[in-house]
Order: sequence, then C-alpha cells, then structure tokens
Amino acid sequence: MENKVKIFNTLTRKVETVIPNVEGKIAMYTCGPTVYHFAHIGNLRSYIMEDVLEKTLRYVGYDVKRVMNITDVGHLSSDADTGEDKMLKGAKRENKTVMEIAKFYTDAFFSDCHKLNIKTPDVVEPATNCIDEFIHMVQTLLEKGFAYIAGENVYFDTSKLEDYYVFSSQSEKELMVGVRDDVEEDENKRNKSDFVLWFTKSKFDNQELKWDSPWGVGYPGWHIECSGISIKHLGEYMDIHCGGVDNIFPHHTNEIAQSEAYLGHKWCNYWFHVHHLNDKSGKMSKSKGEFLTVSLLQEKGYNPLVYRLFCLQSHYRKPLEFSYEVMDNVAAAYNKLLKRIASLKDEGTVDKEAFAAWRIKFEDAIANDMNTSMGITVVYDMLKADMNDCTKKALIGSYDEVLSLDLLKGAENLANMSNNDGNVAENSGVSPEMEEYILSMIEERKAAKKEKNFARADEIRNELLEKGVALEDTREGVKWKLV
Ligand code: AMP
Ligand code: ZN
Repeated sequence: MENKVKIFNTLTRKVETVIPNVEGKIAMYTCGPTVYHFAHIGNLRSYIMEDVLEKTLRYVGYDVKRVMNITDVGHLSSDADTGEDKMLKGAKRENKTVMEIAKFYTDAFFSDCHKLNIKTPDVVEPATNCIDEFIHMVQTLLEKGFAYIAGENVYFDTSKLEDYYVFSSQSEKELMVGVRDDVEEDENKRNKSDFVLWFTKSKFDNQELKWDSPWGVGYPGWHIECSGISIKHLGEYMDIHCGGVDNIFPHHTNEIAQSEAYLGHKWCNYWFHVHHLNDKSGKMSKSKGEFLTVSLLQEKGYNPLVYRLFCLQSHYRKPLEFSYEVMDNVAAAYNKLLKRIASLKDEGTVDKEAFAAWRIKFEDAIANDMNTSMGITVVYDMLKADMNDCTKKALIGSYDEVLSLDLLKGAENLANMSNNDGNVAENSGVSPEMEEYILSMIEERKAAKKEKNFARADEIRNELLEKGVALEDTREGVKWKLV
C-alpha cells in the first residue's frame, strides 16, 4: 500500500512520511494517564489528537495496533525523580487506598474518553500488571553495564550513552545540562541526568505498593513502565510513540535511553507530540485556578463533542488557549453544521466517482501532518459542492470515521427534536443531560402557564437564563438558544 501519512517527527525535527517497519501495519504507543486525579481538558487534548492520528492511519488503510499504559505506580510529582508519589498523594487526599484511587480515576478517564469519542486503544495495561517485565529489564541493564546500584536504588547511567539528549540541538543540550544543575540533589546519582529504574530506598517509606526484587522490596521508576509495556505488547520495533510535549524531556528521552540500551538497537522511528492547551493564566493545572474537566464543561451546558471540535479546529503542533468565548463560537458552528447536515435528503444513490474524489480531498488534508482544520474546511466545501444529498451524507459518514463528531447522529437528533412538540433547539451544542434538563424546564413552564402561574413561568425563564439559555415564545412553539 502507498505510504502517505506525514507527521512531524520530534526526533528528526522534520515533517516525514511514516514508513512502517512492517508494510501495512503500524505499531503505536501512547503514554497513558497517571490515575491520581481527573484528567483535565489539556490532557484530553493530547488524547483527542492521538485518537485522530490513529483514525487517520486506519482511514488510509493501515492495520494499527495501539497500546497505552495506565500509570498507577511510580510517577513522582516532579518528572525528575523528586517530590511526592502522585498516586500516594491522591490516596492521602481522598483517604482511600492507592488501588481504590487507581480504579476510580481509570474509570473516570475512560468515561471522559467515551464522551469525547476517543477510541479505547487495543491494549490498555496498568503498570502494576507488569512488574516482572520491569524487573527483567532493569536486571538486563545492570548486566549490560548501563545501570548501577547506589543508596539501594537502581539508576540508569546516562554517561554510558553517546547521545542521551536525543531530542535536542547542541545549544539546547548545553542549556539542559545547566538546568539540571538546579534539580534537587540526589547524592547517589553519578551524573545529574541519571534516573531511577527501581526504588528500594527512598524518602517515600510509606509507599503503599511494593514488590520483591533482586535489589530488595521496592517499586519501579516511572519511565521504565512505558518501555516495559510497549516492548511487551509491540515487540522490539515500534513505529509511532505519542505524548504531550511535556513528555519529551525527561520522560521520552529516558524511555529511549533505557529501551535502546536494553534492546541494543534503534527502537522507535517516529515521535509524535501534541502541544499544550493553556488557560488564560498559562499552563493548565489540576491544583490552581479552575480545574477544567469534561464534567465541568457539561455542567456549564457544553456538549463534550464541542470541545473535540474546538481541538480539531487548530493544529496539534500549536499551543491552544482555552476560553469560554471560543467554546460558545464553536458550539454555534457545530449546531449550524448539524442543521446543514439535517437538511440533507435521503434521495438518490451514491455517486461513486464524486464520493471517491471528495474522500481523497479529506484524506489529503488529514494525512498532511494532520491538518484537521483543513479537514473540517473540506467538510464545508463538500456540503457546498454540486452533488446529490445521498453522496454528501455518505461522505459525512466517512469523514466522521476520523473526526468522530457524531455528525450524522447529531443531525438526526436535531431533526427529531425539531419535530418534538414544537420545541425547536436553536443551539444544540449542549450535553444530552443539559438538553434533557432544558426540555423538562420548558414543559414545566408550559404547565405553569396553563395553570396561570405566571410567577413560576417567569422564574423558570430566569433560571434558564442564568444558565445561559434564552427562551423565545413563537407561533411554532417555544424556541431555546444559548446566549
Ligand atoms: P499525565 O496524566 O500527567 O501523565 O498526562 C497525560 C497526558 O497529558 C500526557 O501525554 C501529557 O503530556 C499530556 N498533557 C499534560 N498537560 C497537558 C496540556 N496542558 N495540554 C495538552 N496535553 C497535556
Ligand atoms: Zn510514557
């Protein structure tokens, strides 16, 4: 098959055509969440764009196997082996065990993914399932001379590599070495950039989850997880490894160091990184400011798929700033698009030639370094083109295999709602729960009016207005819209 998907490879700093190790197949790995808290919508931006990458690869015909880890042990609050264990922090905060915390937030993560139409990877593996694999890797690294034991922990010796800072230019390397000088001192480390493979002795004596190992009872470092889990499920050669840009250093740098030292050859060819979602104050955070989650967006009346569209409208390699103003615009655009699709008739038969030509236009956009906003432009252009409605509908269904915006289902719901007792949704960019709530309030208001309880009717109108929903009494019935 023709290799036509291009992505920016952080390793070579170039947009490159993906050429898989095995023709027609892609082995893909995604760094999964640390399940100590809800994911914020910044984390989910990364997972949405990685989902689009996977679906783009499938769209052009690849057989993709995608693996994701769940970090339920070993990730400290600093990526540089210092600070508190994130899982323990979560357990203390909620007075639960680490395993309870892991279960709760893993479920919450997949529930958010489901709302955003993010496909679950083919393999999802919690780190605590793979302790034997990690121990085997660490032991091999010790035998090969790439690791050492100091202060009862096992460390990776970065001085054994010709090039540890694989993702950086020369000047960046010098800068990074300088920055490392400020990192909290661990006297056991032979070199500042060395990192922990296995903890047995640390300041975290109250660590809840510990396992027996040749070096004493302890637990794995964070970076070894992704190497161990990906090699277990994808073998010694991987095509694409994904994560947010914050993963480039030290996490992915350390993953490459230990995997290639362990395997004795190059491991992964393409590194795909998604830029951050920021809020107005800067970096998105789980601890300060408004903690932006999918549930919060829903509470505010947004359909989670409006957030997915928000992400798709900008390029994955650009930082993106979140604001409710932009979300409102996207919600309106989403609704307008659904309305346009809802107006398509089922008449005629699919024009195969036109279908193929327009499918290629979409494929060209998304396969070109995942130009999702161009992909959406193709949707609008196609809807305007001179072609029968049946072909247009078929194309919408096809594009949505990648966009996953429920375009046909959403349009159908909209059409059904318009037929529903005259209550026409002017703006359906809200969650199903919110929609249900609005419609029930409209019904209650109608009943209040019938009973001449106008005070209650006004109360309901104001209550909805406070939530950003305006009602309008028209001859066809009550209309509502987001304001
Ligand atoms: P974590 O649960 O902290 O391990 O992060 C999960 C994923 O979210 C990783 O791929 C991070 O690189 C990514 N990530 C973290 N913060 C952001 C952000 N503000 N915007 C986009 N992705 C992020
Ligand atoms: Zn990882």
